[in-house]
Amino acid sequence: MENWAGNVKWTPQEVLLPKSEEEIVDIIKKAVSSGKTVRTVGSHHSFTPLLATNSVSLSLDKMQGLISKEADNRAVAWAGTKLKRLSEDLAETGLALENMGDINVQSLAGAISTGTHGTGITLGSVGTQVEEITFVNGLGEIIILNAENNYHEFKCAQLSLGSLGIITRIKMRCKAAYNLELDIRKEKLSDVLANLDAIVNENRHFEFYSIPNSQITQTKRSNIVGEKAGHTSKFSAFINDIVLENWALQLMCSINKIIPASSKTISNLIGSFISNEIKVQQSHKVFSTVRNVKFTEMEYNIPFESYQEVVKEMLKLIDKNNYRISFPQEHRFVQADDICLSPAYNRNSAYIASHVYKGMDNTRYFKDLEDLFVANGGRPHWGKMHTRDASFFRKAYPKFDDFLQVRAKHDPNGIFLNDHLKKVFGL
Ligand SMILES: Cc1cc2nc3c(=O)[nH]c(=O)nc-3n(C[C@H](O)[C@H](O)[C@H](O)COP(=O)(O)OP(=O)(O)OC[C@H]3O[C@@H](n4cnc5c(N)ncnc54)[C@H](O)[C@@H]3O)c2cc1C
Repeated sequence: MENWAGNVKWTPQEVLLPKSEEEIVDIIKKAVSSGKTVRTVGSHHSFTPLLATNSVSLSLDKMQGLISKEADNRAVAWAGTKLKRLSEDLAETGLALENMGDINVQSLAGAISTGTHGTGITLGSVGTQVEEITFVNGLGEIIILNAENNYHEFKCAQLSLGSLGIITRIKMRCKAAYNLELDIRKEKLSDVLANLDAIVNENRHFEFYSIPNSQITQTKRSNIVGEKAGHTSKFSAFINDIVLENWALQLMCSINKIIPASSKTISNLIGSFISNEIKVQQSHKVFSTVRNVKFTEMEYNIPFESYQEVVKEMLKLIDKNNYRISFPQEHRFVQADDICLSPAYNRNSAYIASHVYKGMDNTRYFKDLEDLFVANGGRPHWGKMHTRDASFFRKAYPKFDDFLQVRAKHDPNGIFLNDHLKKVFGL
């Protein structure tokens, strides 16, 4: 088996697809008595070896869909539900997620378990929309956690890297279904940075893509509108969504891989393709894009106050080191939260995501950027490439040891651990 990017491969002894919570309880009890370990997979979209196992690999692909719509725009879904199906099922009942990342193929449990986020400084990561989590722990017990019955353990379960147990059901706080107007612009990086505070605060969602070695950015502002869905320009939508983000990018990256010295020319070419576009669509369609071009990725969370300084240093680093990378970087902005292992724990945050085309060496680029981010209070996205271990996380997360205690309580036999988790937890 391998992850989406193909940078992590593993060979499990068994692959299990349970259809009920009772079956999962049996699987856990058998694993404990036979000394096996269990890793739960969602959609394999993490870049870190979270899923790697030579023992039992368990998927909830057969436990998908909406279970119930509840009062006050709440909904309960099977944890294995892919976000695309979840969004469509919610839309049918007149609901929508408050926010999403930029793809919709992850499973709901997989997304929250690594702190998956979208953008919007008044909105938290996907996990902050979770109000109740049901999981089967490492003793085969079915546990239900919410902020009322056990606040502390609930805050651990909202981001747990699949290490507390197998999440089966998730209750989400949703919104009445809404449309977003997406406003895509080609702008100069210096203009974006000069007006950043105002842009971030004036728009429900704001993100931008910068291109290494280029001053051009593609900015995306999205805001709720009452209007009916529809494209204002089908042509520019086609250019931005399909040609630029997939076909042209694939072609440019392939040339860059064969002729690394072409990176500056390629960066300028990618910039020249960006065109302005405005469209109105159902929220979940605006959030999700198609990602056909394969890459490896590192994404760091930076305190919002340090972000501008970090970007300036990063630009100098890119200029000085001539990395020959032209794959765009993504910049997003997320509200502080109180989830123990959330990179946005206790701070409004900016996320900088750096990508390298599949098959190209990312070592020096990622290492230099990681050093810069870490020196400036950065915390890595749990699902994206990083080299941090427990000694780092213990300093970065005030609740790290509290989390480990809750983990040990629910998994006393360590059946949810693999080598990667032992490294990040220091076990
Ligand atoms: C093309 C691409 C685009 C991406 N875009 C974004 C983005 O916009 N924003 C962002 O923040 N991240 C993004 N990511 C990262 C991605 O959202 C996370 O890595 C996410 O965890 C992947 O979800 P998944 O269902 O594939 O989970 P997997 O990678 O399969 O698993 C992730 C973790 O969740 C655990 N898990 C899965 N299911 C369960 C369960 N039922 N119970 C307990 N634990 C479980 C696994 O054990 C593992 O630890 C992107 C990744 C790719 C490849």
